[in-house]
Amino acid sequence: MSATLAGLAALAACGTARTPHPARPAPSAPSPVVSRPPTLAPGPAGLTPVFKNGTRTPDKTVALTFDADMTADQGPRAAAGEHFDNPRLIATLRAMRVPATVFMTGRWAEQYPVQARSIGRDPLFEVANHSYSHYAFTGDCYGLPTVPQERMRAEVERAYAAFREAGVRGVMPYFRFPGGCYDRRALKALASTGVTAVQWDVVSGDAFATDAGAVARQVLDGVRAGSVVVMHCTRSAAPVSERAVRMIVPELRERGFRFVKVSELIGGSAL
Ligand SMILES: [Zn+2]
Repeated sequence: MSATLAGLAALAACGTARTPHPARPAPSAPSPVVSRPPTLAPGPAGLTPVFKNGTRTPDKTVALTFDADMTADQGPRAAAGEHFDNPRLIATLRAMRVPATVFMTGRWAEQYPVQARSIGRDPLFEVANHSYSHYAFTGDCYGLPTVPQERMRAEVERAYAAFREAGVRGVMPYFRFPGGCYDRRALKALASTGVTAVQWDVVSGDAFATDAGAVARQVLDGVRAGSVVVMHCTRSAAPVSERAVRMIVPELRERGFRFVKVSELIGGSAL
């Protein structure tokens, strides 16, 4: 095993689990250009709502999500040749026609603006917010540096600004906490941004994995109708994700699953 604490940061859900609130569905009038993404209603006391998985309906849908991680201090490593992107993974998703949601850090979009734009403009995908710096929103989150509460909102807004700067359009109002770590303070700090926090119910274990088959098995064992699977779109920290996807996709299709983006799961949770 070559897993490190930092690598495990994105693997395990922490913070308190909360029940999703009824979603506000998108407007019913079909509009391919401007349609308001579905979001969850605010939680009690106006806290940022948290989405973990869709409804467990017989219409078996599953959302693969990919965190495009790059922290604010990894620029020198990228300059030295480390790859925080994974173009082959994106190409495979396209070749297999698999819709997916990419939770991107602002720093990643700055480093890879062409890819960020390309992902954002492809209707197969949707881009969502994974903070600017990939620093933690709670005090104890796998050793990640901590964002002070008064800077949390700015972390989200700076990422959206980085997406705009890179030319990424149509970014979704969904936010994934770095490491999945959040608490009431963090949910309160982000309430005014209007985002829906998106967690997951299936951990792929792809971070620092070396065995694609083991990653695929873990996903295939965990997926249920409405599942959200967390994976990564960064070669250096998740080198076997693309191979795992090639195993996961045909098997889940064989089982009758349909791949959707997170927005469809959130929209469907109101039904
Ligand atoms: Zn992450």
